[in-house]
Amino acid sequence: MSGNILIVEDEPKLAILLSDYLRASGFEPSCLSNGAEVVPWTREHKPDLIILDLMLPGCDGIEVCKNIRSFFCIPIIMVTARIEEIDILLGLELGADDYICKPFSPREVVARVKAVLRRAHDGQTIQVQGLVLDKHRYRATLHNKDLELTAVEFNLLQFLANSPGRIYNRQQLMDKIYPDERIVSDRSIDSHIKKLRRKIESVDPSAKLIHSVYGVGYKFEQGTS
Ligand code: CA
Repeated sequence: MSGNILIVEDEPKLAILLSDYLRASGFEPSCLSNGAEVVPWTREHKPDLIILDLMLPGCDGIEVCKNIRSFFCIPIIMVTARIEEIDILLGLELGADDYICKPFSPREVVARVKAVLRRAHDGQTIQVQGLVLDKHRYRATLHNKDLELTAVEFNLLQFLANSPGRIYNRQQLMDKIYPDERIVSDRSIDSHIKKLRRKIESVDPSAKLIHSVYGVGYKFEQGTS
């Protein structure tokens, strides 16, 4: 197994230890020690997985996790110094993929990294005329250019692209992307679609992938509208 792993850890010895173990297992690790550096670094380098310590200088792991999740849904493993904190973290529904408590054995961390990546790999990759939806990295590209979708936009596009030509009404789309039944106005679907189209058009102005079906909803289809 391979991949770029970002280790965010402010204890240098621990970061080096983890880094060595990951490299020995075939991964390419990078290390950051300040929470405030994580988001810009992630935007630029798009790692395959992040090992994120909870207590960090600059910006704590919770804020970092939330922030990354708003634009990029890569696997995140959170590391805490106290077992009780895992319960708190789970309650916050940050969307991290796994939690590890210190002290840990680096071997265990490598095993968890592999398991999380394997799970993420299970999803399919959708490829339609220049559009690639990589569920492993929650990454959407059009003609090899990153669309920088939020998690909601990615899920919406993936759902529509799974069944080209099929028309979905707003309620169906909301049920799909807000499975926790949060109360959202069906206009919020329109606003997500609008942003999705804008991102797609900024890469390829002639790409018409999401079509409005008047009075009904939306469908994914290639071609012009
Ligand atoms: Ca720390």
